[in-house]
Amino acid sequence: MDKFKKIEEAEMAILNTYKRHQIILDKGDGVYLYDTEGKKYLDFAAGIAVFALGYNNKEFNDALKNQIDKLIHTSNYYYNIPAIEAAKKVTSVSNMDKVFFTNSGTEAIEGAIKLAKKYAFVNKGADCYEIISMNNSFHGRTLGALSVTGNEEYQKAFKPLIEGVKFAELNDLQSVISQISEKTCAIIIEPIQGEGGIYPATKEFLEGVKSICEQNDIVLIFDEIQCGMGRTGSMFAFQQYGIIPDVLTTAKALGCGVPVGAFLANEKVASAMVAGDHGSTYGGNPLVCAAVSKVFDLFESNNIINNVNEITPYLENELNKLVDEYDFIESRRGKGLMQGLIFSVPVKDIVEKALDNGLIIISAGKNVIRLVPPLIITKENVDEMIIKFKEVLITL
Ligand SMILES: *Cc1c(COP(=O)(O)O)cnc(C)c1O
Repeated sequence: MDKFKKIEEAEMAILNTYKRHQIILDKGDGVYLYDTEGKKYLDFAAGIAVFALGYNNKEFNDALKNQIDKLIHTSNYYYNIPAIEAAKKVTSVSNMDKVFFTNSGTEAIEGAIKLAKKYAFVNKGADCYEIISMNNSFHGRTLGALSVTGNEEYQKAFKPLIEGVKFAELNDLQSVISQISEKTCAIIIEPIQGEGGIYPATKEFLEGVKSICEQNDIVLIFDEIQCGMGRTGSMFAFQQYGIIPDVLTTAKALGCGVPVGAFLANEKVASAMVAGDHGSTYGGNPLVCAAVSKVFDLFESNNIINNVNEITPYLENELNKLVDEYDFIESRRGKGLMQGLIFSVPVKDIVEKALDNGLIIISAGKNVIRLVPPLIITKENVDEMIIKFKEVLITL
């Protein structure tokens, strides 16, 4: 196969929205990926924090294959067993009361926004529709989610977006307070900002926001699409902060590669929605829900969260050594297996060189290397990553 001919075919047929690396990935096994030329890569990106269980997990694959042979889709006019099982598991691990399954992260955000608006509409009136989001946040690419994404670059060509979105500064409670009015229906926060550059919220900040929400009957939405599903050392990051949102969004690792997301809510907020308010043809179909259900089973049987907590101090220590060793690495930020290395130089070339050297890493903003590996990594994998990474850093 002529790789560059294939890439040319891709560029002719696929809409130009990504600047892709010049490799074609072919298969995966554990924490390794292989391209069509047989080159092996250690993967510290997991398809953007998606493949938590590692590639080619036999039990996961078999569960999907079994469901494919049984029933792939039904529509939401009928019940199906995998959806019931998946719903019980995701509400149980998140301590939320109700779930709606979506086909992506951005759709989970759309649903969360609609739910918050409906709650405010019923309880506070039609004038209460404003949403406060954070600067530097990322919530998705569809128009509602884009409206609450604190990134002017992503928004500017697509205005007007939805009305009534205001932005505040993460970890600056005063900036949130200054945006509150009687019209505020929701506040949306990533407990750890992902795309924006791995910025964890402080406990004091989230506590402050929570108490504002309680005082003013404002819906608190946590977007855990990236930081949830075990990545930071608990099933959801909010569980470590000890601050419970009204609405929670998840996706990415929820289906470990099968496209599925979800928004969840406590009973108080969830009860605002009635039949006809929201829907999805595919959402929560038997195939994706068989995946979700198996993901939770495997998290438990493989002690995934224990592994995250065991590997994290080791990884952090190794990354801290890099900060000490290289002048152009300023600091490390993150929680669990969601880590950022802050460079004083743009990291685009570093990502490219790492790829050449058989290491898949991604950026988060211009100056941040983001490490979001499969959650099954071992200390040996960390060592291997550090060696490969240093081989690149030494050339800078
Ligand atoms: C990736 C991401 C989204 C969007 O998810 P998609 O599946 O790409 O639509 C939303 N919020 C956060 C925090 C994300 O990391």
